[in-house]
Amino acid sequence: MTNDLSNNSAVSSPTGDPYLLTPGPLTTSPTVKQAMLHDYGSRDTTFIDINAHILERLVAIVDGEGSHVCVPLQGSGTFVVEAMIGNFVPADGKLLILVNGAYGHRIAKMCDYYRRDYLIQESAEDVPVDTDELDQTLANDPGISHVAMIYCETTSGILNPIQQISQIVARHARGLLIDAMSAFGALPLSVKEIEFDAVVASSNKCLEGSPGMGYCIARRSAIEKTKGNSPSLSLDLYDQWQAMMKNKQWRFTPPTHVLLAFDQALKEFEEEGGVEGRGGRYRQNADLMISGMRKMGFKTLLADDFQAPIIITFHMPVNPEFDFSAFYDGLREQGYVIYPGKLTVANSFRIGCIGRINLEQMQGALDAVAKILTKFGIDEIINAK
Ligand SMILES: *Cc1c(COP(=O)(O)O)cnc(C)c1O
Repeated sequence: MTNDLSNNSAVSSPTGDPYLLTPGPLTTSPTVKQAMLHDYGSRDTTFIDINAHILERLVAIVDGEGSHVCVPLQGSGTFVVEAMIGNFVPADGKLLILVNGAYGHRIAKMCDYYRRDYLIQESAEDVPVDTDELDQTLANDPGISHVAMIYCETTSGILNPIQQISQIVARHARGLLIDAMSAFGALPLSVKEIEFDAVVASSNKCLEGSPGMGYCIARRSAIEKTKGNSPSLSLDLYDQWQAMMKNKQWRFTPPTHVLLAFDQALKEFEEEGGVEGRGGRYRQNADLMISGMRKMGFKTLLADDFQAPIIITFHMPVNPEFDFSAFYDGLREQGYVIYPGKLTVANSFRIGCIGRINLEQMQGALDAVAKILTKFGIDEIINAK
């Protein structure tokens, strides 16, 4: 069957690659990739200016000019999440982690490594964080110094109630630490509405740069208090911040090409109309994907109210003819890479709506799905009870 599907119908991005309908890395624009075709030394003034300009624009995305600072860090998103936990939760602090998926659990693991005291408030993967329970827990446990949350839990694609959470945490005068990895740049996050100590995200998700670096945007008064907290040298955000203020340079080899790509990606983000424009395109992508898949009989894991326009989780059909690995391969051969599920509550797969893709690719993927169902001989999707 492999050849059948690939022969006449494979599509590809402008650089000949399949489209990535995944939670990252993502499809980037040709101009973002093009921007990497330069070698700069870390002390090159052009590079230093580009670097400074990137940090300023990241702060501007959350309306944090004057009150907030941005500290970049090498590595994938997890590195900067870990840096945030290690820097902001002091050795004698205690972290309440709001968990409804794998990324929340990963923060607990970081606390285990760093021997930080923590507590988990968990809800099912298809249920948003319970804000009443959060309120209660904070009222009952004055030892909790910080709360960690995931804005969009990419495990399922669920949107957590960030505004209510931030209000409750602020009312109890604790520090809020936000993993906004899969939301930053596409979902609203303004310091005028959402109070936080720190938020982290990476270059390669909704801002559509290349993978390779993360950044932490912190309230200046909060990061000022983190001196000496970090249990790790390379992940010490305070030290990285100090170095950057002193000589505008990264402490260790900067990912220069990633930064050049990110500079271009931010330009394209701004041209698209910032968070509103970017989020709007993703919402259109998500709406078409959801309605198209539902027309074919697939069911989404999440109720529409909780669905972020980032990645959609679909229940795995139980038709005996539906073979996921052939489904995955068939889509790949037609030019679309999807993502297996990572849920514990249900057998599922995911289709991402982010990256340099639009309605054309969404429709193309839907057509590809329909073709494979025909191939499988499935007229009607059967969903598990
Ligand atoms: C992608 C992602 C991360 C970081 O993952 P990396 O693979 O380390 O880049 C962290 N949290 C969330 C919510 C994510 O979506």
